[in-house]
Amino acid sequence: MANLAASLDTLWRVQQLDAALRDNKQAMDRARADTTRAGAAQTKAATSATEAETALHRLRTEHKELEQELARLDSRIRKLEAEAAQASQAAVQKHRAEVDELEGKGLELLDRISAAEKAVTAARGAAAEAGKARESAGKTAAAKIADLEAEAGRLRGQREALVVGLAPELLAVYESAQTRYPGAALARVADGFCGVCSGELTRQLVSQLKARAELLRCPHCLRLLDMP
Ligand SMILES: [Zn+2]
Repeated sequence: MANLAASLDTLWRVQQLDAALRDNKQAMDRARADTTRAGAAQTKAATSATEAETALHRLRTEHKELEQELARLDSRIRKLEAEAAQASQAAVQKHRAEVDELEGKGLELLDRISAAEKAVTAARGAAAEAGKARESAGKTAAAKIADLEAEAGRLRGQREALVVGLAPELLAVYESAQTRYPGAALARVADGFCGVCSGELTRQLVSQLKARAELLRCPHCLRLLDMP
């Protein structure tokens, strides 16, 4: 294979593009993950706001029921007082004690309602912030992804132009190694060792590699070896 050396030189350039494409894909994955994270944060903030609203609603209902119970007791007390019967005094005392207790509970509930209202306001604010953050993260990521896609298109175009000159069998071997090691299928020989996995190479293999007349793999990591 007289032109193997030239093909190997081309493959090194293909590998540069493959490494750039690999980095491009990772950057795109990161941009997509940013969008997903911002979306999840917004959903969580919206759920918290709904929970705070539900808690407030529960307290308001409880307070309303308490007010109804107070009104019922008040009217009962008025009725008993109107009867003015001696026997009613004990019942009036009892109801008044109940009223005092309920009024105490009512004050406590009003405190809790006020705290719950503050929590709702804070949770709504946080949800609105998360919504804005999501929108901004989405825009940033979309712009980044568009740039990366344009870059990937350019890189793929350059790659296609390079690989047309390669023998299909050689390209197939490279592609299978590149699937295993994206952007890092080729390894240089360094002082008798594989430049990537540092596995030791036999003298015979090194002298075969020097000739650049056949395609050879590292016996340790199976990358394609070359001594350009
Ligand atoms: Zn190796």
